[in-house]
Amino acid sequence: MDNLKNALEKRFPKFGINKSREIIRLIFEISKIKKISPEEFLNRLSETKYEKLKQDLLAQRYPQSFGKTDLKSFYLPKLEIDESLKADVSDKLFYPKNVYYEKEAENSFVFERAKRLFANAVFTEIESLKSFAKNKTFSVKDFNARCDNLFLVKEKYDFFKPCPCTSSVVNCGYSIMNLGMGCPYECSYCFLQAYQNTAGIVLPYNISDYLQDDKTAVSTLGFFNYKRIGSGEFTDSLVFDHITEFSKNIVGFFQKKRGAFFEFKTKSVNVDNLLECGGQENIVAAWSVNSLKIQRENEFKTPDILQRLDAAKTCAKAGFSTAFHFDPIIYYDGWKEGYKETVDMIFDIVPNETIKWISLGTLRMPANQKTVMENRFPNNDILNGELLLGKDYKLRYEKDLRIEIYKYINDIIQSKKSKCIVYLCMEEADVWQKAINA
Ligand code: SF4
Repeated sequence: MDNLKNALEKRFPKFGINKSREIIRLIFEISKIKKISPEEFLNRLSETKYEKLKQDLLAQRYPQSFGKTDLKSFYLPKLEIDESLKADVSDKLFYPKNVYYEKEAENSFVFERAKRLFANAVFTEIESLKSFAKNKTFSVKDFNARCDNLFLVKEKYDFFKPCPCTSSVVNCGYSIMNLGMGCPYECSYCFLQAYQNTAGIVLPYNISDYLQDDKTAVSTLGFFNYKRIGSGEFTDSLVFDHITEFSKNIVGFFQKKRGAFFEFKTKSVNVDNLLECGGQENIVAAWSVNSLKIQRENEFKTPDILQRLDAAKTCAKAGFSTAFHFDPIIYYDGWKEGYKETVDMIFDIVPNETIKWISLGTLRMPANQKTVMENRFPNNDILNGELLLGKDYKLRYEKDLRIEIYKYINDIIQSKKSKCIVYLCMEEADVWQKAINA
């Protein structure tokens, strides 16, 4: 990037820091989309006046949105590329070098399992995760090494809570059960890479503390006629299940709760423990899915879509309910064919009567995630889309495009004549109205 900065300074010596920052950002993004070098693109520019140049570049970078939206919606952060931050997407089995545990964990099932499965790891007692983290920093530089460390800690406060969702959207009433923090998969769009501030994978050892009283009482119905509780917000629900066997505790607890459904949301095919429990209608095995192209290019280390659907079919046949989450839906040339193919695959492979719900959510992310993504996944095409900055400081597609996408995918699902409920994740009421209820 230094080459580009130097070339820009030479070409436009009177631009100050802020103007240069914006122009460099735009040149970088446009040349990435056009697949030419930024220096070559810079050489082709003839305009020299800042205002006009910026307008021209914005029009090229955001051809659909430019002229229709406030200029503040175009997010142009400083370009800071550090090649050492690139994501490590090589396939490795999860095998931590260090296991840090709190004293009380020693008597837990999870500790015993970790001892057995990770016999070569160094086990170190810590007072607490908080005290361990004191005076240590964890940044995106350390993200690739997160699987080196496993923390077994007591979860005291956050086991169960209403989904934080986001302001001014239709809330679906979901409640979250927190089964840990961190994930060994590498999805280019994952919010954890810009959010996680712990130097490893964190798993609670005291799940039985939660599964003692009826916490489902605080859940709401949203637009379902049953309560829905699920895991999979800060970690994949099942990817560590061969270590923790949490699914066995959870199925045992929830199978007695009528009127409440528990959902395991995963991209893994780690369903052996679930199958051992035996199917229950109110236990939902759910998979995040995408178009085959987006999965291939962005969801590294994960089982592919066909493997996920095969696992869903096995769970369905064992008596579990199933669900699917198209999230994040990405707009690209060929998105219609791509998402239709996946919807068709779901309804061809998974017994339709077991599918309880399908959620749709287009790509959205906190603005600061953009720079993390472009450093960790420099070849990703996702950021080439026209993601606009909202008042909540999140990036997302423009509303009409979101409506078009939801409507298209919902229509395909409805054509399958399934009884499953289709809902939108984190969307405003008018988007619902136009896309789903129209
Ligand atoms: S599976 Fe989910 S939690 Fe894991 S990396 Fe992908 S998006 Fe993140």
